[in-house]
Amino acid sequence: MRVLVSSCLRGVACRYDGSAKPSDAVRELCGKVDALGVCPERDAGLPVPRPPAERRADGRVLLADGTDVTEAFERGARVALERHLRRGMKVPLAVLKAKSPSCGSGLVYDGSHTGTLVRGDGVFARLLKKEGVCVVSERDVELCKPSVEHPVALVMGTGLGHLAQLVKPVRRIDYHDIDGFPEDAVPVQGHSFEAIVGTVDGVPVVVYPGRIHLYQGYSATEVASLVRHAERLGCRDIVFASATGAVPGNAQVGLGIITDQVNLTGKNPLAEWDGTRDIQTPFVGMTDAYTPYLRTLARGVADDLGITVEEGVLAGVLGPCFETPAEVAAMRLMGVSYVGMSTVNEVIMAHALGMNVLGLTLAANQSGDPDTSHESVLATAERHAADFERLVRGVLRLL
Ligand code: SF4
Repeated sequence: MRVLVSSCLRGVACRYDGSAKPSDAVRELCGKVDALGVCPERDAGLPVPRPPAERRADGRVLLADGTDVTEAFERGARVALERHLRRGMKVPLAVLKAKSPSCGSGLVYDGSHTGTLVRGDGVFARLLKKEGVCVVSERDVELCKPSVEHPVALVMGTGLGHLAQLVKPVRRIDYHDIDGFPEDAVPVQGHSFEAIVGTVDGVPVVVYPGRIHLYQGYSATEVASLVRHAERLGCRDIVFASATGAVPGNAQVGLGIITDQVNLTGKNPLAEWDGTRDIQTPFVGMTDAYTPYLRTLARGVADDLGITVEEGVLAGVLGPCFETPAEVAAMRLMGVSYVGMSTVNEVIMAHALGMNVLGLTLAANQSGDPDTSHESVLATAERHAADFERLVRGVLRLL
């Protein structure tokens, strides 16, 4: 997987003041991918050291004395882009230095040279986004990096819990000891109610090899209790895996990366919010609920390993019956690729708690197929088990 990386994050002293800004997490990532260093300001021929510049909301780049250096910054961004993207190179991800007038993404200094940050992108980051590159900062990489204090939570769905067998266990937690998990809950076929804390390939993880569902009569808060547990254990990354139906015309049977969701369950754990713990407000924005950085890593791993994976939007429904032909037709029109009876409420909780979310799915049948049964879902999950395992392990390795 090719990744563009700001040279200053790799330790090159190319910043305006002649310094570098190395990030250990970014340098570690560079050791695992095909990392391509880039410095658009150096590509513009700007000297080191040079006066600091800031990009204003109107797009002009100014020095503190008011000199307009927009042309040089745009030239450097174009040269860097030509070198790395226009030669047919596939570069899905860029890790760029935060707040820079060239590399900054999402937040940049406002041009007043007073240290004020505003929403916006640097000149180079903007160009990359237009080209469809996922642009993240060193902070995104650092926040997704697992450790013993911050293991990766993996919540597994129907037929996908076998990942638990890969864990080198340190301890086990009975779900019934988890705060908010219903005492009377029993696992459906293909699930287990024992969380395993340990490592997979040396990466600290907590695996939840089963879950409960709204269609069993549980509340959205109970369904999301595993997410709250993971967050309290220190997990910052959470991977949800679920079996779904593929909406004909929008997705095929097989593995998928979830890009967004439509919550059709009529439930929401934030509507049941007790106002006392964990979450400051239930009015949570849901843009990028599925963390773009993690999605892009999963895509890159799949491409590198030759695993066939599609991407699409998940619709969560209450269940337990499968969809009618009219519902399938409606979801196709809505742009939905996958339909499932789990995940959406858990993702709402995870996003509200500020966790990094990756959603993977196994579309085990065509939605609306009258021959679908719990057994057929399990059988399809079994057929894709090896690819699913390679995909998850590949992502864990890159974090
Ligand atoms: S242009 Fe980008 S890579 Fe170059 S010094 Fe500035 S932030 Fe670093």
